[in-house]
Amino acid sequence: MRPLIATIDLTAIRHNYALAKRCAPGRRAFAVVKADAYGHGSAAVAAALREEADGFAVCSVEEARVVREQAPKARLLLLEGCFDAEDYAAAMELGLDVSVQGAEQAQRLLDCGPARALNVWLKLDSGMHRLGFEPAELQRWAERLRGAPQVAEVNLMSHFACADEHLHALTDHQLERCHGMQGFAFDQRSFANSAAVLTLAPAHMDWLRPGIMLYGASPFAERSAAELGLRPAMTLTAEVIAMHDVPAGDSVGYGATWVAQRPSRIGTVSCGYADGYPRHAPSGTPVVVRGQRVPLAGRVSMDMLAIDLTDLPEAAIGDAVELWGAQLPVDEVARASGTIGYELLTRVTQRVPRRYL
Ligand code: PLP
Repeated sequence: MRPLIATIDLTAIRHNYALAKRCAPGRRAFAVVKADAYGHGSAAVAAALREEADGFAVCSVEEARVVREQAPKARLLLLEGCFDAEDYAAAMELGLDVSVQGAEQAQRLLDCGPARALNVWLKLDSGMHRLGFEPAELQRWAERLRGAPQVAEVNLMSHFACADEHLHALTDHQLERCHGMQGFAFDQRSFANSAAVLTLAPAHMDWLRPGIMLYGASPFAERSAAELGLRPAMTLTAEVIAMHDVPAGDSVGYGATWVAQRPSRIGTVSCGYADGYPRHAPSGTPVVVRGQRVPLAGRVSMDMLAIDLTDLPEAAIGDAVELWGAQLPVDEVARASGTIGYELLTRVTQRVPRRYL
């Protein structure tokens, strides 16, 4: 078998979920497991959290089906709502909570045969201007939906654009708009993503929606996951599959972008951008071999990358290479590559086998 594996520590995910709950005592939390649980495998994560999670949140009906099999009784929220009558029929069959982010979605719900009353989460556009109603329109729809046979709870949700940035003015503005929704007695409210769970108590309300923190990555640029008490859930490990002595002045890899400044020992590693490692990771991005950080050398290829092992003379073919995980925060690799941990985790491709601890 090609030596490349993503090891998923489910105990870490349980620890991180418990930490989210400790940030907001007495509140409930939807574990956000969309995008295949940010690349960690939504079936396995849902099964691991079945006992402790109050609920789960996903992006689509297809994602909901996978989670529903593992958690038959949990509340399961569809974050972007239903896009057609078939989605609503599936939501009723699966007993989903559905967000409703615009008038079209709301009307479509009222047009459905009421097979089963759904918990509805009306999404307020509190300032991100991506999805959701204006306050007055939201209130009108809340009143129309209350008592409709298709509707059980009428709830309020919103999403922050900048909660990951310390004291951002837009966060205050969004929070004010959320708290300003006083004209209607919503059954439940939910505003907080991971950043708000960790640092914005006034946003905690009834239900939290932590995503990235469950997987042990930080939502903040300037605060590490370890500092926040989070444990990394995914360790991506490949192997040194070849070694080459490269004389000073010779180059390595596509585009010949890395040139040896001294006689160098180059290791070829069994992971490339088709596995989800960022092609834009520059030379110098760290990986870990034998507990030591060594730098990437040259461009990442589709199935391989190269590392400079000159300062690690004991390195050998067959050595494990940690691309990120327990010894190297994914956020650090993301920063070096000009992106965020979210992207790296969700992009680990299906050809990388997942092993669960
Ligand atoms: N709620 C909604 C509506 C989202 O779209 C997301 C993620 O994008 C989350 C919660 C979880 O956010 P985070 O992963 O930053 O905790």
